[in-house]
Formats: sequence, structure tokens, C-alpha cells
Amino acid sequence: MKLYNLKDHNEQVSFAQAVTQGLGKNQGLFFPHELPEFSLTDVDEMLKMDFVSRSAKILAAFIGDEIPQDVLEARVRQAFAFPAPVARVTDDVGCLELFHGPTLAFKDFGGRFMAQMLAQISGDKPVTILTATSGDTGAAVAHAFYGLKNVRVVILYPRGKISPLQEKLFCTLGGNIETVAIDGDFDACQALVKQAFDDEALKAALGLNSANSINISRLLAQICYYFEAVAQLPQEARNQLVISVPSGNFGDLTAGLLAKSLGLPVKRFIAATNVNDTVPRYLRDGQWAPKATQATLSNAMDVSQPNNWPRVEELFRRKIWRLDELDSAAVDDAITRESMRELKALGYLSEPHAAVAWRALCDRLNPGEYGLFLGTAHPAKFKESVEAILGETLELPEALAKRADLPLLSHSLPADFAALRNLLMSR
Ligand SMILES: *Cc1c(COP(=O)(O)O)cnc(C)c1O
Repeated sequence: MKLYNLKDHNEQVSFAQAVTQGLGKNQGLFFPHELPEFSLTDVDEMLKMDFVSRSAKILAAFIGDEIPQDVLEARVRQAFAFPAPVARVTDDVGCLELFHGPTLAFKDFGGRFMAQMLAQISGDKPVTILTATSGDTGAAVAHAFYGLKNVRVVILYPRGKISPLQEKLFCTLGGNIETVAIDGDFDACQALVKQAFDDEALKAALGLNSANSINISRLLAQICYYFEAVAQLPQEARNQLVISVPSGNFGDLTAGLLAKSLGLPVKRFIAATNVNDTVPRYLRDGQWAPKATQATLSNAMDVSQPNNWPRVEELFRRKIWRLDELDSAAVDDAITRESMRELKALGYLSEPHAAVAWRALCDRLNPGEYGLFLGTAHPAKFKESVEAILGETLELPEALAKRADLPLLSHSLPADFAALRNLLMSR
């Protein structure tokens, strides 16, 4: 697969290069040159396949020229070792549950596939994964790479702005996983990562690689579960499908749109955000006007400058789709709480991120349509807020329970690049 840099179309790279580099010159994102398309008959056939075989076929359409199909299928089998079921919420609404992986969030899919691809591509060369997380990416990346030879992982996160359990999940591993609590918000962490990638000397010394949602391998992996969702729906629903995506950095939405561009039948997407609503406002009035990031209940979506947005725009441009066909809505914390209670009354236990997407979906679904919203995290990952809002006690799933009593191993740093650089070079 050839990809180009969105900021400089002359910079062209292979998939292997894009995975190891993460970003191109001037922090430009890589975007596929060819956008493969499956015919209607192909899609119908693929929807009958099992998750792993189908996913290998989807991925081969992009990267089959660089990684043989059988190797790819074996790698996918390692990465996607858990299901993505659609749970019924009402007759015309279902939740695509993406939280059955080891860190109980959808980022397990992308994180684990990326780890597999890096292992495949880099062989024995040492690499440092440097990434910023607003909560869940960190856990997914840490667990996906934990114990892998020749891989050092450094994860930055905003101190005090992720849930205590989220922190326990990835800051207690040790070994090749280093975690750094930054005095600042997620955007500050993300800015530090970008600065590190601009530092050529540092990059070369460490074999720097990013593993957040800008890495193209993560996006490709995420395409696969949209197909898996549709495969579980009855025929009538498949032709009337609206998908609501709880969005922060817009990686998940980008992957969904790529699935549609491959030929998956999706009538429309809804970009659902919390009050960090740069995109819904932009879609309404055409002004790109990020505000200061606000802390919300759905903290993994507390992003005011979503880093995947240029890819969304590029895809619309390439496909000659109109941006005003992308639906959107912003949901504040009060309505998020209310929505979680309404979901509970319907018999479905949910957490703030999914509740944002559900609310946006219910408000925008037309009669005769079938709606899916993405369940991006297990409710127990947001135990404190879920329990407070729903007034019931949640059982911790085993993966969390095991880590809850271990000590945190994080370093603490100001939001200052010189300090971070020191820490990175100190080994
Ligand atoms: C990361 C995350 C999101 C946002 O996904 P993006 O791809 O960044 O838009 C939503 N919900 C949860 C639980 C997350 O961890």
C-alpha cells in the first residue's frame, strides 16, 4: 500500500514505513493512495465469513502487497482474540460492544493489531513507542506491547484527568512500560509527543514510534469491526443502518467511514461528542474554532483539536462525498447522566462515552431506520461515575480487579519538553 502525507503529497511511503514512522514531515498524517472497493456481491460473501478470515480479507485489500495473506491472517488471529457482539437495546437500536478485550475498550483492537504489525515489520530493531493518552489508548498500547522484546513504551497522560482505575490498568505494569503523569490536559500531552517527533536527533536515537490513533495500522484494524457489526444484523436493518460514533480524536469515525468507502452499507454516520464540540460546530457553521478543552464524564473524548480530522476531510474529498451528509451532535454531562439512566431503564447498563453516542442516535434516528451506537468501553472502567449516576454497585471484571491493588509506577513531569527529553534520553 502506498500512502501520502496530507501536508505534503510528495512524501510517499509504504505501509511498513507509515507504521514505523507514525507521522510524516510537518506532522502530516498518512493517507492511502488507493481506496479499495468491494462489490456488493463481495460484501455479501464477506458478511458470511468469520470475524478473523473476513478481517484478514479487508486488511489484505490495503496491505496485501506487503504482507502475505496467510501471515496477515495469523497476525489478525493474535490481535483479534475476542469478540465484538451487537447487543440489543431496543427493537431498532443495538450497541456494538467493543470492550471485550484485555483492557476492556475498543482501543484493544487497534493497539494489538499495531503491535503485531510492528513486530512483523521491525524484526529485531529496538524501538521506543511514545504516545499520549486521554485514558484508554494508554492501557491498550501498554497491554499490547507488554513484554515484547526490543520495544520500550513511554506513555504520557494528563495527571488527575483519567479515572483512577484507568490509571491502575496501565501504570502498574512496569517492565518495558514507562508511564508519565503530565501536569496539563490531554492536548498538552499530545503537543509534547508532537514536539518529540519533530526532534530529529531524539527520533533517531530512540527509534521513536507513535502508537496513538494517528498510526494508520490502528485505523485499518478498526475498519474490521464495522463489518463484524453489520454481519450480525438482519437484512432489513443492513439497508437502513445509521451508526453513531462517540468521538474524541475521530479515529473510530475515520475507520467507519473507510468501511463505508470499501462498500459496507451504512446510510449515515453521526459524529457524537461531549461539550468538546469543535467538529459539530464546524459542521454547522463552517468555522474551525477549537476552544479550551473541558473535563467531562466521557473523559476519553475530552479533545478539542481532534488529530484525525484531516483524514476525514480527505476521505470526503476523495470520495466526492458532501461533508454536510455527516451528521453530528454534542451532548453535555447532564444529558449524559440522564441517558445512562434511560438506558438502564431499558435494561442496558452503559457508561458515559456510549451514552453520548446513544443520545445522539436517538435524537437523530428516523422511523424505519436501524441505529447502532458504539460501546467503546466496559462500564466498570468508569466505575466511580457509573455507580454514582446509576446508584448501583458494579462488579470489577477480572482484568481490572487484578490490577486495582497494585502500586502506581508513574513518573511525574511538568508539561515541558526539555524535561520529557531528559527522561527519554536517560536510558
Ligand atoms: C478513545 C475513546 C473514544 C474516542 O475515540 P476516538 O477514536 O479518539 O474518536 C471514545 N470512547 C472511549 C471509551 C475511548 O477510549
